[in-house]
Amino acid sequence: MAGTQQPEVNIGLVGHVDHGKTTLVQALSGSWTDQHSEEMKRGISIRLGYADATFRYCEGAEEPECYTVEEECPDGSESEPLRTVSFVDAPGHETLMATMLSGASLMDGAVLVVSASESVPQPQTEEHLMALDIIGIDNIVIAQNKVDLVDSETARDNYEQIQEFVEGTVAEGAPVVPVSAGQEVNMDLLIQAIEEEIPTPERDPDADPRMHVARSFDINKPGTTYEDLAGGVLGGSLVQGELSVDDEIEIKPGREVEEGGQTEYVPIETTIRSLQAGGETVDTVSPGGLLGVGTGLDPALTKGDALAGRLAGPPGSLPPTWQEFTMEVDLLERVVGAESGETVDEISTGEPLMMTVGTATTVGAVTSAREGECEVNLKRPVAAEPGAKIAINRRIGARWRLIGLGTLTE
Ligand code: GDP
Ligand code: MG
Repeated sequence: MAGTQQPEVNIGLVGHVDHGKTTLVQALSGSWTDQHSEEMKRGISIRLGYADATFRYCEGAEEPECYTVEEECPDGSESEPLRTVSFVDAPGHETLMATMLSGASLMDGAVLVVSASESVPQPQTEEHLMALDIIGIDNIVIAQNKVDLVDSETARDNYEQIQEFVEGTVAEGAPVVPVSAGQEVNMDLLIQAIEEEIPTPERDPDADPRMHVARSFDINKPGTTYEDLAGGVLGGSLVQGELSVDDEIEIKPGREVEEGGQTEYVPIETTIRSLQAGGETVDTVSPGGLLGVGTGLDPALTKGDALAGRLAGPPGSLPPTWQEFTMEVDLLERVVGAESGETVDEISTGEPLMMTVGTATTVGAVTSAREGECEVNLKRPVAAEPGAKIAINRRIGARWRLIGLGTLTE
């Protein structure tokens, strides 16, 4: 076994359900992200549909054959590791748009998977591309998957449809790589495209560390005695800086406290007791991939994702907590993902909206709507910087639909 490297970049897998996202991740990394990992129950190794893959290079081989995930090259020599990437496998099911958006806030780039055997776009192909547009993820590679199922004429038609579909979007000009994830065909070309289009972002190691908490757990088995209790565990991703064991961290919004009929959120402080990244126990972590943080918190506080959507960082470094805020609103022309393609009506005072800010998803009521701007009162508060991007969803029929982009102003 070659030594594992900590992943340094997060790449989202997006696209319509059944187009082959999970199969593609499996082909590139050997892990099956749909499987609910046993590790999750056992310890602080947490998977959130994340799978790491180490891209490797065969010295002396031609492009694209020189790109591989195998440790042995075709000529029998050993391949050299290029970098480890972490794939965030976004669920394709339409009701999971919020999960996709919160995942999107952690993505440095994306692979849009489009099946060659269906017409373009399918509803979530369009919806996910719109989400990438909104979040501003423009390092994109398009994988035209399942080419083993179609003849060359159909593949060419489908390719034209993809080009037409992405025109004028954030994915315009993105390479379209024909692949078969199922048969592991053209994986080398895809790795090459990812290496070229989705670089590891420049990181400032001196920036205050900031973690987006996507999940939180109580990892203790029922009946564990008090002396043996492990502290609460946070799962998520670091977007800047470095975290080390023994660091003090603050979590915002923190804990809900009632005082004289008023509820208030008080930041939680704790110490980092252990860190897991890239499937290993480490002393220090930097951005990229999924991170498990063992803390000194009472596990009752972290149980069942109770702290999902929070921010963590050095005490005093985190942005404010908002119970209500004003946002500038850019509405989409049409409701994305809806079959009928209905137009988006103006936001009105009193209506409920679902908003995704970072990894936090929260419902709020519009207290005042003006042209291009509205004020919302949140059920559960969020911590965010002014200027933060907000995905705005409206209830249409039985589900929440993406209708626009907000920018937090105050
Ligand atoms: P997801 O919903 O996008 O994650 O799609 P999955 O990866 O679960 O794949 C959906 C189905 O398509 C599964 O039955 C896969 O075996 C199949 N599949 C995925 N990729 C390919 C491919 O390249 N060729 C063929 N023939 N089938 C594929
Ligand atoms: Mg899947």
